[in-house]
Amino acid sequence: MMKQLTALLLCALLALAPALAEGGAILDGRWLNADIQGNVTEDTPAELKDDFGLFVNKDWILQAQIPAGESKTGTMEDVMRTLKDRQIALMKDDSLTGHDAELVRKLYALVSDWDYRDAQGVEPAMPVIEALRRIDSLEAVTAYLCDRSNLKRNYPLAMAVGADFIDPDIYITQIGTPALMLQDSAEYTQRTQAGELYATMYEQLGTYVLTRLGYSEDEAAQVIENAFALDALMAEHVKPMATHYQADYFASLLNYYSPEELQALAGDFPILDMLQAYGLKVGQRFLVTEPDYIAALPQIYTEENAALLRDWMTLKAALAMGTMLDRETYKQVEAISNALMGVTGESSDDDNALQSVLNMLPVPMDNLYIQAYCTEQQRQDMLDIIGDVVAYYRTMLESVDWLGDETREKAIEKLDNLRVNAVYPDALGDWSALDFAGMEDGGSLLAANAAVQDYVNGLQSDKIDTAVDKDKWDQLTMQTAQVNAFYNPQNNSINIMAGILSGNIYNEDMSYAQKLGGIGTVIGHEISHAFDTNGSQFDKDGAISNWWTAEDYAAFQARAAKLAAWYDGFIPWEGASYSGQQVQTEAIADMGGMKCLLAIAAQQENFDYDAFFREFATVWRMQSLPAYLVTLVASDTHPMRYLRTNATLAQFDDFIDFYGIQPGDGMYVAPEDRVAVW
Ligand SMILES: [Zn+2]
Repeated sequence: MMKQLTALLLCALLALAPALAEGGAILDGRWLNADIQGNVTEDTPAELKDDFGLFVNKDWILQAQIPAGESKTGTMEDVMRTLKDRQIALMKDDSLTGHDAELVRKLYALVSDWDYRDAQGVEPAMPVIEALRRIDSLEAVTAYLCDRSNLKRNYPLAMAVGADFIDPDIYITQIGTPALMLQDSAEYTQRTQAGELYATMYEQLGTYVLTRLGYSEDEAAQVIENAFALDALMAEHVKPMATHYQADYFASLLNYYSPEELQALAGDFPILDMLQAYGLKVGQRFLVTEPDYIAALPQIYTEENAALLRDWMTLKAALAMGTMLDRETYKQVEAISNALMGVTGESSDDDNALQSVLNMLPVPMDNLYIQAYCTEQQRQDMLDIIGDVVAYYRTMLESVDWLGDETREKAIEKLDNLRVNAVYPDALGDWSALDFAGMEDGGSLLAANAAVQDYVNGLQSDKIDTAVDKDKWDQLTMQTAQVNAFYNPQNNSINIMAGILSGNIYNEDMSYAQKLGGIGTVIGHEISHAFDTNGSQFDKDGAISNWWTAEDYAAFQARAAKLAAWYDGFIPWEGASYSGQQVQTEAIADMGGMKCLLAIAAQQENFDYDAFFREFATVWRMQSLPAYLVTLVASDTHPMRYLRTNATLAQFDDFIDFYGIQPGDGMYVAPEDRVAVW
């Protein structure tokens, strides 16, 4: 069987790896895709005026090593590494006291003690598998899903609690579509490289884990076939990802139902029972993101499809449990995923343990990080830069010539009401009511995982129909120990996480120009999201409401379309195309952020532009395995990193003039061809 598997993997890899540009050919006619490992060699020309990103980063690229078990490396990845190393140290630190530290240690032991896990083998999963195998009717499917003692229950819909989109002061239950195995429903009618990769992954992982859990190879093949058949039935009623980028997307999500109306919409499908079995109480109203899907459930959830439903639940449960059992199962699952993604080597036991502990105990881990690494100085630095950025955007919005007064006023009102979450919350999250059986009490990782899921669902259920405390930083949905900074349109907030504040993005030893080129441009980028195509659909309190006049919105769209068309012209590798529509929002933000920071720079005396631009190019350096870039380009809404540097900087006279860039140089874009929206 192993031989067969290897042969399959090779085929998959050959088919999926993008062809490298031969001899460093510049496919898009402007810049080499320097993100792909192997594209840049000693001989590759790297002139400042032709390819600034490559000029700054070439030496780094030539010596960059993608770590064992990883698919990419770069500045962001280095900062993530620092964060992980700190968290691993916290996870292992026996000197820490308190309930958070105790939970973390108990879970860390369950995750990392391979002797203990090997002694349990696959036994913890067997009650789940036996219960699934007994299913022989639709009634039995329902009974399984409604029995909360089953440790892994996968429902044919998504259920979550969040702030209401229209009245963001109230928590509401959101009903959505299930996660499809091929990620995008469009893959079921027209399969892309990314869809092929996901399909192969489910087939290979499914075959391995199911046989490990006692299925014969024939039985496993049948389970997988049936699971895909059900997924395809569901996909017929799920909107394709492309619709998510359309201007009316958020408005299309606003469909409200009372419990009675929801049950009527779902017909024979026992939706309210499922909700309660999942652990959420029945609230006063539901937000249904895709009512067509819920209305189609009675056609999918039928007696004829009972075997398909059972096998879909079985495959999902098996894959979820595959990483929580003994070492052999864990290692095989990792090896199969790595081979498909082209990842060589294995990630360390510490990294794997950390991932499990973070997934299950996000709030306790976050508390430990805050106590160990967050400082008042970091917070003050962020508040200072945010203050400068907001002040600039106010000036920009006051002066931009294509906005009418009505839209301009609303935009400024939004800016004036911006909430700021800088680095860490005022009060730590409280998970003191959570407990689970540890090693001493014969616990298992799978049982601990189920206990945490129940606990979290309980916390979420308690919120339904209650008021949202907008000034409270909820670490369950937003951990500060993550390498991230983002604008949240749903409460009009800018959020700078502690985890991003290290290495080449921000550190206390940087010059002011470097700080602006690093974390400063990130903050400028994020705040610009308040006013872009997504941000325009949420008002100053985060309620969905389009505050743009039709005329101004059309002007914005015309400018965005010009930008998208320009990005359409980039070719990530031979034979692939690039979607300007997919990346337009983030590209607009990159350029908006740069414009903002350049305005702040212009107010400084003797500003060190060279350090500023180099720092910006350093932030976005990256080396990626080819197969990983295939999945990234298919789904990432951010431009590829070499474009984040070059395409952004080429829009600005401050950059062009500072380095004396001329027509004919690769970094030169004529003023009439520039695409910055702001
Ligand atoms: Zn963004």
